[in-house]
Amino acid sequence: MEFVAAKDLDEALVAKANHPDAEFLAGGTDLMVEVNLAHHRPSSAIGLRRVDELREMTDLRIGAGVTWATLESHPHRALAQAARTVGSPQIRAAGTLGGNIGTASPAGDGLPWIAALDGTIELRSKDRGTRVMPWREFFVGVKRTAILPDEAIVAVRIPEDTPARQEFAKIGVRNAMVISTVSCVVTHGDNGTTVALGSVAPTPMRATRAEEMINAEKNPSEAALAEFARIVSEEVRPITDHRSTESYRRHGAGVLARRLLERCLS
Ligand SMILES: Cc1cc2nc3c(=O)[nH]c(=O)nc-3n(C[C@H](O)[C@H](O)[C@H](O)COP(=O)(O)OP(=O)(O)OC[C@H]3O[C@@H](n4cnc5c(N)ncnc54)[C@H](O)[C@@H]3O)c2cc1C
Repeated sequence: MEFVAAKDLDEALVAKANHPDAEFLAGGTDLMVEVNLAHHRPSSAIGLRRVDELREMTDLRIGAGVTWATLESHPHRALAQAARTVGSPQIRAAGTLGGNIGTASPAGDGLPWIAALDGTIELRSKDRGTRVMPWREFFVGVKRTAILPDEAIVAVRIPEDTPARQEFAKIGVRNAMVISTVSCVVTHGDNGTTVALGSVAPTPMRATRAEEMINAEKNPSEAALAEFARIVSEEVRPITDHRSTESYRRHGAGVLARRLLERCLS
C-alpha cells in the first residue's frame, strides 16, 4: 500500500483528485483494523495527521481531524459525553470525528449528535471547492455515504440556534471499550425537543413522530413520557445481529430516549 503524508489540505485534495481510489487515513482506528484483518486493502492511503486545517474547531464548526480526546471537553455537552465513551484513551487520542463520519457505521457514536442538532457535513474537492450537505443526505446506508471519490470531509457544521439542553447515552454489553447496541441524543430548547438514535437503523435517524408527540406537550406528564418512549421504540428500525436482538434494541431505544428527555427537562 502506497502512502502519502499530506502536509496541508490542498496537498491532500490534489493527491485524492489524482488517485480517487486512494483512501484518507486520519487516526487509522477504523481503516487499519480493516487492513490488518485483510477485509480491505486500498491501493494507496493519504495521511491526514499533519493537516492542521482539519483540526480547527469552534463551537459551531468542528474540523474532521479533531480527535475524540479533544472533543471530551467540547462545550456541546452531548458531543463531549459521546467522546468520553469512544474506545479507550489510546483510541480517543488517535480517532477523529471525521473518521467516524467517513466510516458511517450505524454504531458511530458521533453520528446521533450530528443528527439531533441537524448538522451539515462540509466537503471539499480540488476541482469544485466546498459543498455543504445535510446529514440526512450524506448518510445513505450501512457504511455508505454520498461523498464523491475526489472529496474530503473537512468539518461538521452546527446551526447557530443550539438547544439549551442536550444529553447523550449509549447501551452496550459492558461499560467501557464497547460498540453501541443503542445510542441516543436528546436535545431540548426554545425550538422544542429532538431525539436522534444510532445502531437502530442503517444510518443515524431522528424519531420524528416521537418528537412531534412530545413537542405538543407543555409539561409532559408521566403518561406522555411513557407514550414518548413507546413511539421511539416503534419508530426505530433495528436488526438482530451478533451484538443484540431487534426487540432488545427497540426496548433500549425507548428507555434511553425517555431517560435523556427527563434529564433535559429536569
Ligand atoms: C478498539 C476500538 C474501539 C472503538 N470504539 C468505538 C466506540 O466506542 N465508538 C465509536 O463510534 N467508534 C469506535 N471505534 C471506531 C473508531 O475508533 C471511530 O470510528 C473513529 O472515530 C475513527 O476515526 P479515525 O480517525 O481513526 O478514522 P480512520 O480509520 O482514519 O478512517 C475511517 C474512514 O474514514 C475515512 N476518512 C477519515 N478521515 C476522512 C476525511 N477527512 N475525509 C474523508 N474520509 C475520511 C477513511 O478513508 C476511512 O474510510 C473503535 C475502534 C477500535 C479499534
